[in-house]
This record gives sequence, C-alpha cells and structure tokens, in this order.
Amino acid sequence: MSGDALAIDDRGRAPYQQALDRVVYLLDRGLAPTRKVRAFAKGRAILDELGSDEVERLVRSGRLIALEGIGESINSVVSAAYGIGSASYVEKLETDTLIPLGSGAELRHQLKGDCHSHSEWSDGSVELRSMAEAAQALGHQYLVATDHSARLTIAHGLSPERLAEQIDEIERLNAEMKPFRILTGMEVDILDDGQLDLPNEWLARLDVVIASVHHRIHQDRDEMTKRLVRAVANPHVDILGHCTNRKVLGNKRKPSSFDADYVFAACARFNTAVEINCRPERQDPPEELLALAIEWDCRVSIDSDAHSPGQLEWVNYGCDKAADAGIEPERVLNTRTADELLTLISS
Ligand SMILES: [Zn+2]
Ligand SMILES: [Zn+2]
Repeated sequence: MSGDALAIDDRGRAPYQQALDRVVYLLDRGLAPTRKVRAFAKGRAILDELGSDEVERLVRSGRLIALEGIGESINSVVSAAYGIGSASYVEKLETDTLIPLGSGAELRHQLKGDCHSHSEWSDGSVELRSMAEAAQALGHQYLVATDHSARLTIAHGLSPERLAEQIDEIERLNAEMKPFRILTGMEVDILDDGQLDLPNEWLARLDVVIASVHHRIHQDRDEMTKRLVRAVANPHVDILGHCTNRKVLGNKRKPSSFDADYVFAACARFNTAVEINCRPERQDPPEELLALAIEWDCRVSIDSDAHSPGQLEWVNYGCDKAADAGIEPERVLNTRTADELLTLISS
C-alpha cells in the first residue's frame, strides 16, 4: 500500500521532517538501541542541510538513497511522506511499539501531568519545548522539567547559573504555550551523606524537587538508610526518585540495600512522595517495596523519567503497576492539576 503524502504541519515541518520525527518518537517509545535512533536523527540533519525543496526533488527522482547516511529505511520513510512507495515501515513501528494499557487505563485517564523529565538542558535528546509539546499532545496539562544537578557531570548536570537560565526559558515557553504549563524543578543528586547537590535557597525556588541517588548505589545498608532518610526529610524535597536504582534490563543492576520501613516512614512523615519510575529498565520500586510504601501511607508519583518525547508514554507502565497494587487515584500526585499539586507538596 502506498502512504498519503503529508503537507507542511502547523509547526512548519516539511513532510520528511514529520515522518523522521515520528520514527524517532516511536523508536524511543519502544526503547530501541540508541545507535538506531541516532541514525534517523542524523538522517534528518543531513536532509535539513539540503533544504526541503531539494529533498523533495531527490525523492521524486529516486536519488535520495544515493546520499551518504541515507539508508534503505530512511529512504522508504521519507518517500512515503511524499506519497511514494510503501508506508509499511512507520505503520509497523506504530503497532510494534504501542504500549497497551491494562488495569491502569482508568488511572492513566486521570493523570494530568508528568513530574520527571529531562531535556537537552542535561542528558535529554531534545529541547525542552519539544518535550513540552509532546506532553501536551499526550493530554497532559503540565510537565515538570527535572534536569540533573551539577554533580552528574556525565549527564551535563545544571549549575545554579544554568538552572537560572532554564527558569527564564520556562517563563518564556509558558507565556507561549498557555494554558499548558512547564513547572520548574530538578532531579537533585543525593550526596553520600544525604545532603543534596543544590543549596537550599535554590531548592526553595523550584516548583518540584526530586531527590535521587546516582552514585555509590551499593553503599552499606545503614549508611544508605541514613542517606535516604536525610534526603527525604529535607523540606524542599517532594519526590524520592527511583529508590532502589535497580536495573532489570540490559546491563542489569542489583537494587541498593536500605531499611525501607525507616525510609518510607520518613517519606510519609515529611510529605515526600515515592516515585513509581516507569522506565522499562528500572521498574522501580519493585512490587513488594511499593506495597510497603502504601502501608506507610506514602503518596506516589507516576513518572516517565523521559529523556525523549516518545518515552513520555511510559507512564502507561506505571499506571498498570499502581492499579495492580490497588493504589487509589488520590494517592497519586500527578492526578492533581498543577495548582493542586503545588498546594499539596508545599503543605
Ligand atoms: Zn535518575
Ligand atoms: Zn531522571
């Protein structure tokens, strides 16, 4: 079957740009290997250099495939965007990467935002605007920008100076994207002793603060317990991110060891939600720990921890997990509107 030709869209994107962006989105949604995603992103960059008129001319003369860096798949995707050849590559990807919703369908419907996301400000793949537009397209009312803090140099963590620049950008984007809202935030590193990688006066300026461990994951159990309790007791911390740091896919990683009763009791006491991290390789916390957090009456936040637009759809996994654990919508931070959320976490 041959695909319908696309027109320039409301964001001014040429047909080849829309088609390649969609493929990148779907590959990210399906947790495809980075090199595969990059090949398509690079293909788009090569064609951007040529300009859309030249791209269309090459497509129509069948000479696109002769370009260096443009393989069979990119050629077929781009050609289909101009109504030439089969659209089966994208169609198959649409089906194969679809994330089905089971028990969490109702809860997913009630989510109003996502509290954990990354953009090019740290180690995300696209600019913040693109993340926000994708969140909006999924029906969210808000997205919290939670890029990494400075200590995570490998992820280009934000210094207070760069955070200030990001906050300015958020203000500009919010003026343009109304009523959609980007909330300010950070995924702040929890240091070895439970202190946080951003001074309190900065944490106080942010709408939402996630505190996460990213190093010395297999610290001694007692030390890790104290480290986490100290972090979640900080009055500026709203969410404890991926609490065990386990990885269940790819380069697997054992969970860190801590006294979960102490940590969750502290989360409940200090009004810090426990994150249900939806990343397929994390699936954190494990079911038994999630059940314990509920016993302690902790709130939860169903977070994509998306580093690219397609990954924002991963909240579906967390909704199923929460529903299976019997979690009621009132316990979930992001079933609240942005204003309700801000009131709730500041109390
Ligand atoms: Zn993290
Ligand atoms: Zn993160």
